[in-house]
Amino acid sequence: MIRLTVLGACGTYPSAGRACSGYLLEADDGGQTARVWVDTGSGTLANLLRFAELPGLDAIWVSHLHVDHLSDLPVANYALRYGFDPQPARVPVLGPSGWAEHVRDFMATGDVDPVEAAFEIHELHDGERIQFGPLRLEAIATVHSIETYAVRATAAGATVAYSADSGPCDSLGRLAEDADLFVCEAAWATWPADTEPIHMTPSLAGQWAAEARARRLLLTHLRPGADPDAALHRASDTFGGPVDIAVELAVHEVGGRIGR
Ligand SMILES: [Zn+2]
Repeated sequence: MIRLTVLGACGTYPSAGRACSGYLLEADDGGQTARVWVDTGSGTLANLLRFAELPGLDAIWVSHLHVDHLSDLPVANYALRYGFDPQPARVPVLGPSGWAEHVRDFMATGDVDPVEAAFEIHELHDGERIQFGPLRLEAIATVHSIETYAVRATAAGATVAYSADSGPCDSLGRLAEDADLFVCEAAWATWPADTEPIHMTPSLAGQWAAEARARRLLLTHLRPGADPDAALHRASDTFGGPVDIAVELAVHEVGGRIGR
């Protein structure tokens, strides 16, 4: 059983009162539980704290280093270092190569290593599998403008697949294969001419979801100003199954209900 709570769903920058990319993944196999914060875009920490405490997280997953997926990570670092007495155990952060140096450079203000002070550093690689209690996470490298890892989360026979940012590529098919819920970005309303294929459109998301035999599709990372109804229709046309648009605080459960 896996629950995905949308903490933020805007691509590139937030529209009024909303947040950039972020999700809370929770898993429960009837005994153990696991909680992972996936992508730390602006505004997602405030929404995360409605549902979870930072020290209670098993891990934080950073798909890539673009600011709309990252900018609340330094704020979470401050919360862990200055928000508790005594300071809680370090939280594992799983991200692309060089993430710690990137955040360290941004935060550097003194002698203390700000990253090591609050986080355990883990660099992901394609195909890596990591277990947190009942939750298994698989890192799948996508095609984007920088090193990026989608995540395939499995617990007690249920699967949630999150594309992170990605253009159309074979790895998206592997990611979403037979997933109960495929959370796919659709940053582009339509396919742009003469542009590197580093994002998806609603039509392509639906096509990939259908080919991978995903059961449900959740479109996310729509840019402010995008027409969600048009996106829904385009994705429904190519998918043929149920489609939703990700909105903050929406909860999506697969494999049966779990208590909160
Ligand atoms: Zn990006």
